[in-house]
Amino acid sequence: MNENHLSIKIKWHDPAAEPMRVNEKAGVTYLTFPALDALKGFRHGFTTRLGGVSRGCCSTMNLSFTRGDEEAAVWENYDRLCAAMDISRENLVTSHQTHTTNVRGVTEQDRGCGITRPRPYENVDGMVTNVPGLVLITYYADCVPLYFIDPEHRAIGLSHSGWRGTASRMGEVTVKTMEREFGTDPARLYAAIGPSICQDCYEVSEDVIQEFRKSFSRLQQPALYYRKPNGKYQLNLWEANRIILTQSGVPESHISMPNLCTCCNPDFLFSHRASGGKRGNLAALLTILK
Ligand SMILES: [Zn+2]
Repeated sequence: MNENHLSIKIKWHDPAAEPMRVNEKAGVTYLTFPALDALKGFRHGFTTRLGGVSRGCCSTMNLSFTRGDEEAAVWENYDRLCAAMDISRENLVTSHQTHTTNVRGVTEQDRGCGITRPRPYENVDGMVTNVPGLVLITYYADCVPLYFIDPEHRAIGLSHSGWRGTASRMGEVTVKTMEREFGTDPARLYAAIGPSICQDCYEVSEDVIQEFRKSFSRLQQPALYYRKPNGKYQLNLWEANRIILTQSGVPESHISMPNLCTCCNPDFLFSHRASGGKRGNLAALLTILK
């Protein structure tokens, strides 16, 4: 345990529920889900602000080249993160997130895309693969990361699901893609909903709620949001994604919940809401070990 960790008090959403595992290696702090750690032959993580070299609003572990940070600092952050997670930078495959439900079947040809060479694709919010060694990486600062592991077919998926993605049922699109591409049986799939904004922190307006009324049943609506006297709503993206995953056939017992809000922990995690948009990016990573 290093001084980084000691100086920050993590606020778990439900102190009685299981927390994510806090890993510290080579000076870098990253989070994992105990249920996914237990699946042999895969590695995953969710980064925190701790362990990098960026300064100011990007301090310290910013993984985005497009948020005004110094490029050299971001490269150094990637090197430190990869060393801590024992992965190779050349094996990363990056998303190009634009709030779509486009899921790319990632192959050997995509190795290094967005890192060692330009991406030949755009508008990719989700990726699936069964190629060992490729490391899928997606980016966050309040939006919802969705992790999928199919131990039976040794296949994985990683998707970005903000409010638009959630209203468009990104989780379901990803599960269906894995069924089609790899023969995944949702009943044997493991999923995790990553650190992201909690309902208490997530005020939205009527136009956002309209989209959720369209994509969820009337019975499900009360679990997703409530209306406040000011005419705004508090929206629960965690529960919305949990419902989508169970409806897609993933057993409830196979779904890990985040129990950790980006906006409630602005010193530990980047939050778009908490920072007023002045922030770096966190990352979710997932790989099949060789
Ligand atoms: Zn919160």
